[in-house]
Formats: sequence, structure tokens, C-alpha cells
Amino acid sequence: MVTTGEFIQRLKILGDRPNWSLFEPSQDFYSRLTSGEDADLVAAAKAITDHIAIPPLRTVAYEWGLLMPASAAGRIHIKSADSSKIEIPLFYVGKPFALGAILAHELTHQLLALYGIWDKNEEENEQLTDAASFMAGLGKLVLNGSVAEIAAETGETELLGYLDLPARVDLYNRIADYHAIQDSVRAANLTPRAVDLFIRKSLGQSSCR
Ligand SMILES: [Zn+2]
Repeated sequence: MVTTGEFIQRLKILGDRPNWSLFEPSQDFYSRLTSGEDADLVAAAKAITDHIAIPPLRTVAYEWGLLMPASAAGRIHIKSADSSKIEIPLFYVGKPFALGAILAHELTHQLLALYGIWDKNEEENEQLTDAASFMAGLGKLVLNGSVAEIAAETGETELLGYLDLPARVDLYNRIADYHAIQDSVRAANLTPRAVDLFIRKSLGQSSCR
């Protein structure tokens, strides 16, 4: 498994982009991801592409009958700068935090394609893409959607994405350290679950399990 240090080295160009900042997923952003409307999904995707300074995608849509492994949850057909297409299973309607993480991941595929960065091993390419989301400043979206509730009645959860949780925390904090982001800013706009899972652990506080 590639170490976070190796990811950072390979993806340094993303962390060094001009006007780098953390994307802040506000309530307003997530409210767009609760409607189930494609137009709102497109608007949320545009907020992300604006933030990472790439052209907006022409098509971002919910798809009926699209079945995928839980870790994947979305897919992108990469064509050109603006005609790539993202499809997300209808299953995720009403799950705004998962949707935010899916959009971050798929749009990071697009960002990496524009840079010509990829790994020929599929699993490693997915991990590289997860790491790149953090390096591009989309870490809050990934953290908030890392643990998705799949059944509200039972509280059953699943892990979205490809990197293990400690690697995600490490990447989030290392790119934030690099840009001297204060702890209060790191914790803003994170779900309580994300704060719990990631921030406290990473600050070295003891957990009681
Ligand atoms: Zn992917």
C-alpha cells in the first residue's frame, strides 16, 4: 500500500495550486444534495469545479437502475474538459453527505485526467484519486461522506471510498498543516461523526472504546 507521504509527493502539484483553500461544504451546499433534482446536483458539482478551477461538467445525473459496489457509488465517463459525464445511483438521493463525497471523488478523477495523472492499476488509481481529493482541498466532503448510513432504521453504515480511515485523517491534516490551516477551520462544516472519527483521533486525544 502506498504511504500518505508518497501520495503527497506524487500529488504535490495539486496542493501547490494558486489560491488553494479548503472547500467549505455549507448547509446550503448540502441542501442542494437533498432534493433528488438533477439541476441541484449539477449546481453542487459546479460549486466544486469552480473551487478546484476546472470547467463545469455538462452532465451530472442520477441514474435509475445503476448498481455499483458500495465503495464506488458513482462513475465518471471522462471525455474532454467539459463533456465528461458523472452518473450516480438513485439510491443516494436523500443522502447528502455520501453524495458530496461521491461528487468530490468523481470530479477529482476529472481533475487528475486534466493533469494526466493516473495509475494503471485500477485499485491504486482509485486510492490515488481519494488522496488527490484531499490534496485538491476537498477533504471535508470526503470526511463527511466517508461513513454513510445505508439504513436509517438500523443505523447500518458502510465505508465509502478506497483509502482506509487513518490515511484519510493523515492526508487531511498534512495538507492543512502545509497551508497552516487552524484547527477551528479544519473542524468547521464537518459532521459530528466526521469530527469524532477524524479530528479527535488525529489530535491524539484518547478514545474510550
Ligand atoms: Zn473512482
